[in-house]
Amino acid sequence: MDEIAKALEGLNGTSIADALERMAEFYDETKSEITSFSEKEGVKCPPGCGICCSRFLPDITKYESLFLSAFIAFSEKKEEIMGRLESAKGQKNGPCPLYDESKAYHCMCYEARPLICRLFASTCFAGKSGERKFSHCHLNAAFKGPDSIDESAPMMGNYGQRMLALQGEDSVTEFLPERLLKDIALVEYYIGLKEK
Ligand code: SF4
Ligand code: SF4
Repeated sequence: MDEIAKALEGLNGTSIADALERMAEFYDETKSEITSFSEKEGVKCPPGCGICCSRFLPDITKYESLFLSAFIAFSEKKEEIMGRLESAKGQKNGPCPLYDESKAYHCMCYEARPLICRLFASTCFAGKSGERKFSHCHLNAAFKGPDSIDESAPMMGNYGQRMLALQGEDSVTEFLPERLLKDIALVEYYIGLKEK
């Protein structure tokens, strides 16, 4: 059983179970839509590249944080991750504390990563006349963008709106280290309640 399945099962019946289920479903849909576009249009990061994670620190919303926190609480690497988050407190730029060059996708929590990490260099935005434009990655010249863009190409803004709709329009964000440290404590509180 992977960490997400463990987290969903371990927190089932608690006050945050519904949020976790909704995010799991939303991320599954996002993955399926983006993968389908990327495969069809040949969008590809060069193998081994993780420049974005080494330079970027995401700020995250309530549900993104709860999902990541639940994943971390059930991860075998929890202690190491907590240490990294503590060390990154107060940071406003990268590297992201979850960046790990030794991992296949350079992220210690890849399956639960925030939304922007799923959308960056994989989606489009609206140009001045409303036309779809692909958001290219300019950090690595070997990045391969799409061969074509049509009306089915995923729009970054739509995913943000869908996520906000899930969490009741609460759009307050906070940098990943501080937010996760608070929410991991909250998740552990719920785990403790279940164990009583
Ligand atoms: S090509 Fe760009 S988006 Fe892809 S991993 Fe490298 S830096 Fe990140
Ligand atoms: S959460 Fe993971 S994917 Fe996102 S910036 Fe950090 S290391 Fe990269």
